[in-house]
Amino acid sequence: MTESTEYCLNVRGIEREELEVDVLLVGAGPANLSCAIHLQRLLAERGLDDKTILVLDKAEEIGHHTMSGAVMKTKGIAELYPDWKERGFPVETEVTYDAMAWLRANGKHTRFDGMLTPPQMKNHGNVIISLNKAVRWLAEQAEAAGVEIYPGFSAAKVLTDGERVLGVQTRDSGVAKDGSQKPTFEPGMNIKAAVTVFGEGPRGHLTKSLIRDFKLDAGKNPQTYGTGIKEIWDIGESAKELFGSVFHTGGYPLGLDGYGGGWIYGISTTQISLGYVVGLDHHDAKLDPHALFVQFKQHPFVADLIAGGQVVRYGAKTVPEGGYFAMPKSYGSGFCLVGDSAGFMNASCLKGVHLAIKSGILAAEAIADALQAGDTSSKQLARYEELFEASWAREELYGVRNWRQAFDGGMMAGMLDAGVQMVTKGRGLVKRRKGHADHATTRQVSESRFEKPKFNDSTSMDKLTDVYHSGAIHEEDQPSHLLITDPAICIERCTQEYGNPCQHFCPAAVYEIPEGGIASDGVMINFSNCVHCKTCDIADPYENIEWVVPEGGGGPKYIDM
Ligand code: SF4
Repeated sequence: MTESTEYCLNVRGIEREELEVDVLLVGAGPANLSCAIHLQRLLAERGLDDKTILVLDKAEEIGHHTMSGAVMKTKGIAELYPDWKERGFPVETEVTYDAMAWLRANGKHTRFDGMLTPPQMKNHGNVIISLNKAVRWLAEQAEAAGVEIYPGFSAAKVLTDGERVLGVQTRDSGVAKDGSQKPTFEPGMNIKAAVTVFGEGPRGHLTKSLIRDFKLDAGKNPQTYGTGIKEIWDIGESAKELFGSVFHTGGYPLGLDGYGGGWIYGISTTQISLGYVVGLDHHDAKLDPHALFVQFKQHPFVADLIAGGQVVRYGAKTVPEGGYFAMPKSYGSGFCLVGDSAGFMNASCLKGVHLAIKSGILAAEAIADALQAGDTSSKQLARYEELFEASWAREELYGVRNWRQAFDGGMMAGMLDAGVQMVTKGRGLVKRRKGHADHATTRQVSESRFEKPKFNDSTSMDKLTDVYHSGAIHEEDQPSHLLITDPAICIERCTQEYGNPCQHFCPAAVYEIPEGGIASDGVMINFSNCVHCKTCDIADPYENIEWVVPEGGGGPKYIDM
């Protein structure tokens, strides 16, 4: 960790403003906003409407850091608002057609639809949304109900007293690259609350510290992630016939070498959403999710659709795929974890928004009970887990409990086990599969077989061109928010052993290895490009990279994603 970063995170002797609220929610994603809305409602019903609820988000505007596929099951939003349709929850379209396509390396494909669509890929009854529009809508509902929302505030540190979480400290702003205070310096605030809810998305850095410090993963499987890359394309008239269609793909370019696949969703009469997600447990040290996405776009199945079109948005995010046995303990004294941060994702159908909303609802019920009882201890907040265990969310996740780990032994073994899971209600061939941490699966670079695609300007853009479409930007004169724990590892071991995989797996070209090798001061880090996907924090084979929050407001600017 550099001196300037240490300064930024641990400034001593600075007077900090202190704010006290009753419930603090870190992150304005679907889980936390649903929690805030439902909690406000429950407190009002119980005559506790003097309680204050505050949501913090690091994005400059709510929704800017939120992106998803996103085909949504509607049971979560229908539980939060039974009249969600009449209220105007933003839906792009209902799904009118679904299919699975197996892409082959020779440019051909086989389509499975109707009765032949695999059960996990059936999407009738679901809706296509823009998650970033959806959270903006949820934020409006929350504010109208009396919830305070502060965008542009990065929560940098958890405040604790022994085993109890007291709240968070926000990151100082106006700190220069060299750690000195600029004229715009503002010390971060200490925000304290009876209960703090962490809904930071996948691999939230405060959630990570809580899991580590409070051993919330004891007895659980390691969480495993995929990185998803997404673009929105304007393809004019030809989008009309795809409007409402949902295609998922397997096969090329990953083939049977790793877990993952692509999607094409018809999101409007002029636009389609394209994406590719790959499991970060892939063994190849040169694994490059962006390059796989480019290869996917170059397959005629996709290339014919986007020829002549124009990309309008780009984004990347990780998804927690580990399932039921990889969910950390989701509560403790003074805190709860919700949504992706708590592993609420069904990897078999790649859907998590409905589960995120449900986790927020369940946490709200436990927190309302705790506030009413005047007891926010771990024992009282254990109610959250009890409610989860009795809910449809648990039933859904338990029903696919061994899904992702079954693919550890390869795609063929995984598909066989998935078939057995279908008739054994999620068990499969083994009662409980153990899984692995993604960073531990990378093989030496000498074994790499991964080849980069050729880029062209019109449809197969390189990373830097794509980053432009993400809107990512950070104040340049600040300490990097990507910390290399031990720079010597990069030079003395990683180059030889793994070929510095950070230069490959980052979908935003943040890590740069100069042609002559890494300089003595370490890897070049273009942190301003970062789209906050957290792939580096997860996939580095030495766990040598730590993602922390940058100054509030920095990051991607996702719109309509
Ligand atoms: Fe994602 Fe890390 Fe690259 Fe940022 S630096 S875009 S978090 S991989």
